Formats: sequence, C-alpha cells, structure tokens
Amino acid sequence: MDLGIKGKRALVCGASKGLGRACAEALAEAGVELVINARTAETLEQTAADIRVRYAVPVTTVATDVTTEAGQQTLIDAAGAIDILINNAGGPPPGNWRDWNRDDFIAALDANMLSAVALIKALVPSMIDNGWGRVVNITSIAVRQPIGVLGLSNSARAGLTGYVAGVSRDVAEYGVTINNLLPGLHATERLEGLDKFEANQRGIETETMTRNRAASIPAKRYGTAAEFGAVCAFMCSQHAAYMVGQNVLLDGGAFNSTM
Ligand code: NAP
Repeated sequence: MDLGIKGKRALVCGASKGLGRACAEALAEAGVELVINARTAETLEQTAADIRVRYAVPVTTVATDVTTEAGQQTLIDAAGAIDILINNAGGPPPGNWRDWNRDDFIAALDANMLSAVALIKALVPSMIDNGWGRVVNITSIAVRQPIGVLGLSNSARAGLTGYVAGVSRDVAEYGVTINNLLPGLHATERLEGLDKFEANQRGIETETMTRNRAASIPAKRYGTAAEFGAVCAFMCSQHAAYMVGQNVLLDGGAFNSTM
C-alpha cells in the first residue's frame, strides 16, 4: 500500500532501538526523511547508518535526553518544521508502590507525559500552518489495563492519554491528527529487562517467565517491533486522516474485552 507520505519529514524520539527504531524504519520505507533521537550517540549513529543504506532516505541524528527541557529544545531546534512527530522515551523502572516517592513520579511524568506535551506544543503549530500533520505517541497497554510493577508508567501515561484526548480534537480541523499507539508485549530490550525483573521476583528462570507470559497472550507470542512500526506508519499515512484522538492497542488480544 502506498502510504502517501513520501518526501515528508519526521522526528522520531527514542529511535535507536526497539519500537521507536521500528517506527523510524517503517516511515523510512515509506520514503519519509528522518530526524532520529536517542541518548547514546554510538547506537544512534549505527541505526542511522543502517536506515540510510536500507531505505536511501536522509537521516539526521540528535543524541540527547528527550526527558529534559534542554534535550527537548535541542530536538525542537534540530527538527525545525516537521510533518510527523513520534513521541517515545524509555519506560519507568519496575518496582513496588510502597517505594515510589515524589522524585520517581516527577521522573516518570517528565519521560512519559511532559516530554510529549512539550514537543507537541512546539512542533504542532507549524503542522497547523501547513494544513497537514501526524503525531503518534508510543504509550502502553498500561493505559487500558494496569501493570502492577509499572505503577509509574500506569500513572504518567494515563496523564498523556487525557491530554491527547483534548488536544487532538482541537487540532483535527487543521489536518493534524494526534493518536496514541499502545504496545502490549513486544520483543525488545525493554521487555527482556522486565521479564528478568519479574522472573527474579518469582524465583524462576527468565526463559520460563517469557514462555509463560507469551502463552498467556491469545496470539501465543510476543509482538515484533516491525509489526508495531508498520501500524505506526499507517497511522501517519494519508489513509489515517480521519483517525483522531484514538488509542490503538497492539497486543495480540492480551487485553480481554468485547470492545
Ligand atoms: P527499548 O528497547 O529499551 O528502546 C528504547 C529506545 O529509546 C532506545 O533507542 C533508547 O536509546 C531510547 N531512549 C530511552 N530513554 C531515552 C531518553 N530519555 N531520551 C531519548 N531516547 C531515549 O524500549 P521499547 O521496548 O522499544 O519501548 C519503547 C517505549 O514503549 C517505552 O516507553 C516502553 O516503556 C513502552 N512499552 C514497551 C512495551 C514492550 O513490550 N516493548 C510495552 C509497553 C510499553 P538510549 O538508551 O540510547 O537513549
């Protein structure tokens, strides 16, 4: 399918690995020019080089921490007028509600709510001026179904979801769509770390944890990053122009509900 976005420019945050990288690759495959971000310059440069070779699109790298105000400003300056914004950052650490303090919540809010809010505020106005724009926020199944050890994620992402519900409807008339894409369990480094954490807590092998968790999903497997990227690129396509303020869950059927 031609996504109709060849020649557009996108900023993809948290894009050297995992789901962010997969979104960047799927956009590159559709002919989108990229500005990609992560904190670690070396892996970011390697990802950029891979994408340039594979998809023959220009890729600019910005190695900075998207959760800080300085990092956000660096990204905003480097991005300039873009057509597509993919908001993403690492998820908060797992833990226990008894241990989380104010600083932990502030860090989670900065990472998984306020960084997206800041980039939307800075970069959506030029999309409005152009009469076309796409914003996809990578959030989590946690906004539909809380994950016990990820209370910091449950909380911060719920805040972003509420913000997007309102703002997306304010900008829709200008051809700008803002939606959230919710990963269930997708095989990435982040998920490996979470499987290890929960395996340790239960006193079982990490492989057993992973196998049991995958078996609990109706699709009987973890999702791939590529599957996630493909859906993200569709949400950025011309075809998704009427998708406004939605929370698209990609979880192999893990969230059990009729609607
Ligand atoms: P991942 O494999 O750990 O990749 C995270 C990417 O983001 C890396 O490129 C990382 O590079 C970058 N990053 C992390 N913190 C950053 C920061 N402060 N500033 C800029 N870049 C940053 O994680 P993932 O599995 O793709 O997850 C992406 C998001 O989806 C996370 O918020 C995660 O919690 C959420 N999620 C994932 C799943 C899943 O099943 N994978 C499920 C639900 C929600 P650097 O470390 O070099 O910065």
